[in-house]
Amino acid sequence: MGKMQDSVWQAVLGEIELSVSRGSYVTWFKKTRLLKHKDNVLVIGVPNVFVKQQLEHKFNQLIVDTLKKNQVEPERIEYKVHSGSGLHKRPELDEAITLEAPAATRSNSPSTSRGSTLRHNYRQGINERYTFENFIVGSGNELAFAACQSIAQNPGTKYNPLFLYGGVGIGKTHLIQAVGNAIIAQKPGSKVLYITSEQFVQELVDAIRFKKTADFAGHYRTTDVLIVDDVQFIAGKEKMQEEFFHTFNALHQANKQIILTSDKPPKDIPTLEDRLRSRFAWGMSIDMQSPDFETRCAIIQTKANSHNVTLSPDVVEYLSTHVQTNIRELEGALNQLLAFCEMRGLEPNLQIATSLLGVGKARPKHLNAKQIIERTAKHFQLSVDDIVGPKRDKDIVVPRQIAMYMLRSELHLSFPKIARELGRKDHTTAIHSVEKIQKESSLDADIRSAIAEIKERLYA
Ligand code: ADP
Ligand code: MG
Repeated sequence: MGKMQDSVWQAVLGEIELSVSRGSYVTWFKKTRLLKHKDNVLVIGVPNVFVKQQLEHKFNQLIVDTLKKNQVEPERIEYKVHSGSGLHKRPELDEAITLEAPAATRSNSPSTSRGSTLRHNYRQGINERYTFENFIVGSGNELAFAACQSIAQNPGTKYNPLFLYGGVGIGKTHLIQAVGNAIIAQKPGSKVLYITSEQFVQELVDAIRFKKTADFAGHYRTTDVLIVDDVQFIAGKEKMQEEFFHTFNALHQANKQIILTSDKPPKDIPTLEDRLRSRFAWGMSIDMQSPDFETRCAIIQTKANSHNVTLSPDVVEYLSTHVQTNIRELEGALNQLLAFCEMRGLEPNLQIATSLLGVGKARPKHLNAKQIIERTAKHFQLSVDDIVGPKRDKDIVVPRQIAMYMLRSELHLSFPKIARELGRKDHTTAIHSVEKIQKESSLDADIRSAIAEIKERLYA
């Protein structure tokens, strides 16, 4: 059997494109290429380990069959994570990557070539699944969303670096990946690099071990957009911080965009070197909050729709109440419900949701408006009479507004009902109060912690 050319692989891809969904093709196949065909072993270059796993486990047979149709029947197919940069690869991959790259694809310049060999290096680590379009904007993430969009339009100009921080599963990775995808979509030649700080550390360790630190530095310093996720893991590792510091400076001076995330603000990462800390503070840092109830509902509904399922409002509300802070868990709960129903051919309903997810975790049924008002009054050392009474002192007005906010966020009462519970005649007061607290809770740490504390007591 003759040696297979990349053009044959392109033909194979053409056929595969017809037999899988558009999304699958773009995600799993588009950025693959033939690396070598030697000794009856076919080596396919893939952009990242996710694609590698997917091709190995899910699409291998399809690939084998399609190759066969094209008279290519290797004994073995290997999928190798491939990058032409000389950095991400292990030493044993050098040969395959640098020597066997087909001349035709290599001669293309990166910015002009269509689907070129180099193209996929430019979107390293970026997962097409995360886009601005499928990100639901609501309180807690709107500022971060706006900043990310603005960066996507004009990378390297404003907000550099952008530092997003906040708890687990609230959409940090999603947003920064969306920036990468948007930049690549607008300017296909852009070199966007996403990496977690753990990968950064690992690669630097490897680079030192294989004496390739120059490659390492060069690689990072030639990106247009560097996205480093979860930078808290760099803290405390001196050599890593040093390398990162230099990379940071080089990119920043060249007006290249840097985006960072962490679970806490730079000032709260105890072992972060001072000079890094102050660099991080040059740009803009944004505190991302867990999405509120309405946003969670919207997320659930959208995710269900993407599975072609429409959930009734009570199920959506149940899920959004069930999981309050972590969207990844929220998705998990939804997926659990959908899988359960699908396997049994049932329509998801509240009863199934409750029995599946409810045990021991559901909001206590006995929670009512009176308890919320009492708990809020107590927190601020006021009497219930003060809160529901006519006084307009600031010390009372703010707790009253918080109580209204809690009635809305915890019990989802209507505004007229909220107004009545607090002894107000006009329901626009309730609307105004809820909105005010919603806004302030994202800016004012005191209000935020008051709400968290009251909630904790209520559900304890
Ligand atoms: P983090 O990096 O903050 O831990 P992720 O970005 O990984 O969180 O988000 C966890 C999951 O929740 C992802 O699947 C993400 O797509 C989803 N998610 C988070 N926020 C939103 C949102 N506002 N709209 C849609 N999906 C979201
Ligand atoms: Mg993350």
